[in-house]
Amino acid sequence: MPAGRFAPSPSGDLHVGNLRTALLAWLFARSTGREFLLRVEDLDRVRAGAEARQLADLAAIGIDWDPPVVRQSERGELYSAAVAALDTYECFCTRREILSAPSAPHAPDGAYPGTCRDLTEAQRAERRAARPAALRLRSTVSEFTVHDVLHGEYTGTVDDLVLRRNDGTWAYNLAVVVDDAAQAVDQVVRGDDLLSSAPRQAYLATLLGQRPPAYAHVPMVLGPTGARLAKRDGAVTLAQRGGPAAVVPELAASLGLMGDRPRDILAVFDPAALPRTPWTLPDL
Ligand code: GLU
Repeated sequence: MPAGRFAPSPSGDLHVGNLRTALLAWLFARSTGREFLLRVEDLDRVRAGAEARQLADLAAIGIDWDPPVVRQSERGELYSAAVAALDTYECFCTRREILSAPSAPHAPDGAYPGTCRDLTEAQRAERRAARPAALRLRSTVSEFTVHDVLHGEYTGTVDDLVLRRNDGTWAYNLAVVVDDAAQAVDQVVRGDDLLSSAPRQAYLATLLGQRPPAYAHVPMVLGPTGARLAKRDGAVTLAQRGGPAAVVPELAASLGLMGDRPRDILAVFDPAALPRTPWTLPDL
């Protein structure tokens, strides 16, 4: 069954920006007859107890999901199998080496310059002795185009992205693509801070024989300084803002809609009418 999903990182409590994105993902999925899945992206940045509190807050505002909840930390075999099917190479560069390397001709700014792409086996053996390798995709394109419901055609950089970090951690870009494919997720709704990652993820999906999902990158919620909402902005969690009875109608209003429960908002949800600009969270 095709599905949409919400994929929080359990690094702390969800703030209203996260709750608004979750609500939108739920609305997109449920309004199109999809399942709605929760995936805990706990490959790094885990805080004890955060996952349980995040799920409790989602349930409290009336978002329901289709079991099971999966955790990326339990899915290493899937990531490993996917990487085995891809053309990859070992990379020994430190962050500093990448930043100071001259960028490759025609490579977009910030793209990996390809330093380790063509090392000989002898060079690899020598570097392996000095430090563990990350694993990179040997990409055959430098950009890729995705279609987004809110942004239209969007073309972005694809470089030799890291699939496994040199500490053995699976990279977010790999895990997200493998999981979306394994879970039949064909609709990805998330914050538009991730729009620039979509081309490389969609490209990776095609290499794994998958059709890229439909994307909707939704506007961010901003804090009082005009920057993306963060914990330090004060009253930002469900409890701090008065619980579901206060927060759900406020989120609905921020979307130009009315409703006390997600179910009510669903009845009047129209993706085409969604605001295209960030929402600044009002002070309490
Ligand atoms: N885990 C990511 C985050 O919390 C979201 C990833 C995604 O939706 O693709 O920012």
